Amino acid sequence: MISNLINEFMSLDVKSVTGKDCTRLCFCFFVYENELFFGKPFSVSEFSTYVFRFYMDNTMFRELNPNKIIQKLFKYSPTDIYDYCSLQLDIIRNTMPSLIKLDKSNHYFKTLENNITKEVFLSRFKLVINAMMIKYLNMTNYWYTQELTLNEINLALEAQNLKNSRIFNRALEIINYCFICDTIDTEQLEPVSLTPLEKLNDSVKLNMFNYIVLCSNHAKNYNEGLIRINKLGYLIDHEKNYREHLPINVVKKIREFLNDCSFNGDFE
Ligand SMILES: [Zn+2]
Repeated sequence: MISNLINEFMSLDVKSVTGKDCTRLCFCFFVYENELFFGKPFSVSEFSTYVFRFYMDNTMFRELNPNKIIQKLFKYSPTDIYDYCSLQLDIIRNTMPSLIKLDKSNHYFKTLENNITKEVFLSRFKLVINAMMIKYLNMTNYWYTQELTLNEINLALEAQNLKNSRIFNRALEIINYCFICDTIDTEQLEPVSLTPLEKLNDSVKLNMFNYIVLCSNHAKNYNEGLIRINKLGYLIDHEKNYREHLPINVVKKIREFLNDCSFNGDFE
């Protein structure tokens, strides 16, 4: 069973008419990270979010991909690549028909036999992924995880260089333009922390919904305290006596974030 599985995974490749499509490799990381051989179903939407982050976090793979939406991913959201990901899952299912099934909107893997433990399986599967990275991309020691680490966030906050961290990619996933002036040029956007920096605890630092992008001018005003965002989703500029409401889907996510982390800091 396990050698059969390894062979089927190894037959997923990056072939494409032009460039290289690394989504099938991304799928392996998705399977590994979510431990999908252990009875957990997954949907196209979950896969789309993962693929979105994979390409946002890896400029090189984005540039190799022939798909125009993937190449310009900064202008899009995970829902925009749903059809692309659905098609990729069709290809993957055709490559490994004995291992993966589609049931209504969910996909399932054939559950592993009981004579192999999760730890042993995952360590073997990791070797398979490493072998695929070498075979198809000639890359050794490459590993991907979508999870943000406290260490990378701390370093970014320390240097006040959130823009060069993956927090920026996650913030772009929520809103990818400055909602005050409508700037869409990614070069001019940067993330700001909704929670005042001195009140950030570890779980809030790691929560992507604590960050929102603004253009550099408005980010500067925000960081200087000239403009604020309240928990009703209004952006308030006291000096200019100005109020602007954030997009409703963004407000919803910010409220969920506030409830989740039971943060009751100085939002107005
Ligand atoms: Zn702006």
